[in-house]
Amino acid sequence: MKLFGAIEAGGTKFVCGVGTGPSDLRTVQFPTTSPGETIDAAIEFFRREAGTELEALGIGSFGPVDLKPTSPQFGFITATPKPGWQYTDVVGPLGNALQVPVGFDTDVNAAALGEKRWGAARDVESCLYLTIGTGIGGGAIVNGRLLHGIMHPEMGHIRIPHDLAADPFAGHCPFHGDCLEGLASGPAIQARWQKSATELPSGHPAWALEARYLALAVANFIFTLSPGRVILGGGVMQRRELFPLIRAELREILNGYLQVPQVLTRLDTYIVPPALGNRAGVLGALALAEIAEDSY
Ligand code: ADP
Ligand code: ZN
Repeated sequence: MKLFGAIEAGGTKFVCGVGTGPSDLRTVQFPTTSPGETIDAAIEFFRREAGTELEALGIGSFGPVDLKPTSPQFGFITATPKPGWQYTDVVGPLGNALQVPVGFDTDVNAAALGEKRWGAARDVESCLYLTIGTGIGGGAIVNGRLLHGIMHPEMGHIRIPHDLAADPFAGHCPFHGDCLEGLASGPAIQARWQKSATELPSGHPAWALEARYLALAVANFIFTLSPGRVILGGGVMQRRELFPLIRAELREILNGYLQVPQVLTRLDTYIVPPALGNRAGVLGALALAEIAEDSY
């Protein structure tokens, strides 16, 4: 039996999985401690669960990461603020220990790929996956392929209009203040309202403001990437009331400019939650393993 391995490498936890797809994926998770200890725990899991049947491994990682195959630091987590993890080789030790091809990408690119392979974007050629959680990040599939450039996109740090009269909060991003992440991530919501996003009641003005910022961001991404579907995940989007608010704001912001049915009449199937739920990342990593094996 051909098995693939998957790692969703997060700053808080690692989710490791073995299988061939959503129906047979077996996962474990453990906290992200030191690089050595965490990577060893992953190696041990794959040896135990897949042994010699492991064909390839895919890793969707927190970042920033080096994805350039010709770079000496390919497969590294680079300038992360996470203590102990700066310039950590992730692909090297796993590939050496397990002796399989390794696919490597950002956590959000992996999630976009997972949704394309098995989830909410199966029927489209291009899609955007945004996560709104502790940070904001985006991954995209354009013309059937994951989007990369000089590095990976950092969609959380785009600038959006910030009306200081309506929202005097200065923003929470240590680099940019009131970038998208600085205005609309979970910690930004908490800092602005002095209450955790999980505790803010339904109908609180926080949600209308959040929907406005996310709709402005989504409009920018629709104008630049022209995705076939927009998937919004992450902890903050557990708040399902945001979806109709975002769609209504988006309709207003686009103002009839995009004459395509997805946007004009089908926004409820265009702006959607992840069909794979919280397994989008690990299943995307599994899809990265499939690609790594194909191109080996
Ligand atoms: P991470 O981004 O660290 O991987 P999450 O995607 O779960 O993790 O995002 C965590 C953030 O999401 C926190 O800031 C938290 O306040 C917020 N969050 C989690 N659940 C909810 C919820 N049900 N409603 C609103 N915000 C939530
Ligand atoms: Zn920023």
